[in-house]
Amino acid sequence: MKFPGVLRSKLPKQGTTIFTVMSGLALKHNAVNLSQGFPDFSIPERLVELTHSFMKKGLNQYSPMQGVPALRQKLAEKVSELYSANYDVDSEINITAGGTQAIFTAISAFINEGDEVIIFEPAYDCYVPAIEVNGGKAMYIQMNLAGELIDWEKVKRLINQRTRMIIINTPHNPSGRVMTAADMMKLERLTNGTDIIILSDEVYEHIIFDGMEHQSIARYPKLAERSIIVSSFGKSYHNTGWKIGHVLAPAELMSEFRKVHQFNVFSVNTPIQHALAEFLDDKDHYLSLGAFYQEKRDRFNQLLEGSNFKIKPSEGTYFQLLDYSKISEEKDTDYAIRLIKEVGVASIPVSVFYHQKNEDRFLRFCFAKEDETLEKAAEKLMKLSPL
Ligand code: GLN
Repeated sequence: MKFPGVLRSKLPKQGTTIFTVMSGLALKHNAVNLSQGFPDFSIPERLVELTHSFMKKGLNQYSPMQGVPALRQKLAEKVSELYSANYDVDSEINITAGGTQAIFTAISAFINEGDEVIIFEPAYDCYVPAIEVNGGKAMYIQMNLAGELIDWEKVKRLINQRTRMIIINTPHNPSGRVMTAADMMKLERLTNGTDIIILSDEVYEHIIFDGMEHQSIARYPKLAERSIIVSSFGKSYHNTGWKIGHVLAPAELMSEFRKVHQFNVFSVNTPIQHALAEFLDDKDHYLSLGAFYQEKRDRFNQLLEGSNFKIKPSEGTYFQLLDYSKISEEKDTDYAIRLIKEVGVASIPVSVFYHQKNEDRFLRFCFAKEDETLEKAAEKLMKLSPL
């Protein structure tokens, strides 16, 4: 069928998200899929049982728009313990249908025509379309993946009267780098006295390695006052398909967030929220997540020892960047496709996270996988010879 009129696309240049494209190709060519980020192992059995039990108890109708109170209560306790932050259960915490929805809703709630939003590249792929569909303008800053991550002087120069929002992401997808306490202090100084809202994507908050501490915005009261923090249960409970996340924000910002949220999702899956509320009592689960994934990172890197890839340090998330410049001169989007078809391993080309041409030769591999999956992938990657 064909639309009979003139179609005026709101996102004329936007194609299908890279995660859908690469996972689709992996399936088609039967490749080991280390592209889209999701675990290939089971979720905690008790979480399934709890969900089932709440379904059987009849908790199958709409939850409150803000989310199930018991879950918000547990989250308030958790952030108070972990980050010494006080978020009001009723007015400052909201359950969402995953991180992407939370980000889209937050941007829609605050970005008007002509507003500028500062983002750091490589940037996770949902930020820019959400800004543009709302009439905003993305202002780009390139991160230095090999050294000091953010040049705050550049940020300072970009801030002006039109700057409405700054989006940060730590631990950072796709690079695996993390922001430091010094970064947070600088961000605090730069935004002090402005109307800027910070959107802090912290969906990998518990996946951080080598004894580093997650620098949640929630730890910094002056920043928290102007911030919306986005988190995700999918990353922490291995259930990305359940699509549940949450948002923390001061009441005034949350009230605006909810004006939009109530009309684009209203509320999210009720029995799962009850199950998560109980499961959150198991603090060990999220406190041991860093060690759990650090082992996977180390295993993957060890398997690649002696390969022709250069391993970029991964400080957090479940992603590992590999530099393939010794193996091929092809651009990453082409090389990633060839790797699927000819070698049988799917990854994500990092250049898609930049708005301009990017000459790096980096591919992103997800190591949230069973050891055997990592072994299978590494065996194939080890065969690649230098140019
Ligand atoms: N966050 C996941 C990743 O980076 C993808 C989520 C999605 O497919 N939308 O791989």
